[in-house]
Amino acid sequence: MDRFRVPRTKELEFGGVLGAALLVAVMPATVFYLLLTCKSEPASLLNVPLPLPTFRSLWSPQDFVLVLAWIGLQAVLYMLPMGKVTEGIALRDKTRLQYRINGSHAMLVTALVLGAGLAAGLRLSYVYDHFLQLAFSASLLAFGLSVLLYLKALLAPETAMAPGGNSGNPIYDFFMGHELNPRIGAFDLKFFCELRPGLLGWAVINMAMLVKETELRGSPSLAMILVNAFQLLYVVDAFWHEEAILTTMDIVHDGFGFMLAFGDLTWVPFLYSLQTYFLVTHPQKLSLLVAAGIILLNGLGYSIFRGANSQKNTFRRNPADPKVAGLRTIPTATGRRLLVSGWWGFVRHPNYLGDLIMAFAWSLPCGLSHILPYFYVLYFTLLLVHREARDEHQCLRKYGLAWQEYCRRVPYRIFPYIY
Ligand code: NDP
Repeated sequence: MDRFRVPRTKELEFGGVLGAALLVAVMPATVFYLLLTCKSEPASLLNVPLPLPTFRSLWSPQDFVLVLAWIGLQAVLYMLPMGKVTEGIALRDKTRLQYRINGSHAMLVTALVLGAGLAAGLRLSYVYDHFLQLAFSASLLAFGLSVLLYLKALLAPETAMAPGGNSGNPIYDFFMGHELNPRIGAFDLKFFCELRPGLLGWAVINMAMLVKETELRGSPSLAMILVNAFQLLYVVDAFWHEEAILTTMDIVHDGFGFMLAFGDLTWVPFLYSLQTYFLVTHPQKLSLLVAAGIILLNGLGYSIFRGANSQKNTFRRNPADPKVAGLRTIPTATGRRLLVSGWWGFVRHPNYLGDLIMAFAWSLPCGLSHILPYFYVLYFTLLLVHREARDEHQCLRKYGLAWQEYCRRVPYRIFPYIY
């Protein structure tokens, strides 16, 4: 087991042990506070939605089984021998883990199963009617999974500990994730949870909101159609470029613990769908002109996001690729180079800029009367500013002087001329 040991984590993130302990409580509380507020008539963040739900009102064995069945279906699809097998980046011991890339297949099969269900009379609006209970079940499962992951890391690790989740403090390591790539045989738990149940669940939840709105008002609104279409594009894009996730911070650096488990299984599907949930109870009228403006804004965000991510992925996979071979670069002591022209010469995190523009476009169809549907863009700005700082810290450690030179030549982090 010695080869799984990594140096103790000395620099604690997220406010250290206290911050981690608080976040274990604050993350679920935020989900339920926002969902309850969103369903209430005023949908105001200052009005505490009363009465507060009790365990009995949230706990539903049927909904628990439903969430479990959804995760089970995705797990079965993940294990099917469809799609190619690829290698992740080299680990500390120079080995590489293998990953099956079959997310697009899983998405297609899920769409077929859903389509067949709808044709057979499946009432998708059940998801809206039982939204809090389903979110509660997902939260319980995320907690349960996090406990099992922590125990597995202590008792039966199969891969190295995460460099950022090896402090020795149980609360901190439980939150950050102790083991880097926990697996059961070839089943990679973190890779599976990162996209499958949560991201596909988000798209299905959005669809359920559209069905509910149609049941209530006879047809889906333009606002509902736009948010569904924008977010579906984002989800399909993530599955289409599934392999790119293997080089992200979540897979390479962060362990699999409460932060990612709760994020993947509860936060993403139930909070990222806040706009469509809001639109069911707070219908909005959009003129075609405003809708066209919002579509253009989303298109702009998407092209920056996709352009930047693809440019870096192509460059990291094959710097001689004609698509990136003409870009200017800085050499680093590690042998890897940093792009200083193209998207990565515009700002240091152009992909975050594109993502944030899209996030804004997803909120605009909800009108300007409430702040609640803007939760996503506000939270996402904080998340990406914090993530950017974490990444800068790691890049400075990795690339030293070359990174300083990059920062000098590309002075803005995310927003040109602002930040
Ligand atoms: P990034 O894709 O931004 O990757 C950062 C890494 O890129 C760095 O660590 C460095 O790694 C490399 N890099 C940085 N600058 C350069 C350069 N100039 N030239 C070449 N390589 C460079 O990481 P994330 O995982 O944070 O983001 C991936 C995508 O996921 C983004 O679009 C982000 O917006 C999105 N995202 C979405 C979330 C959501 O909830 N919707 C949550 C988090 C992220 P190295 O040099 O080692 O290759």
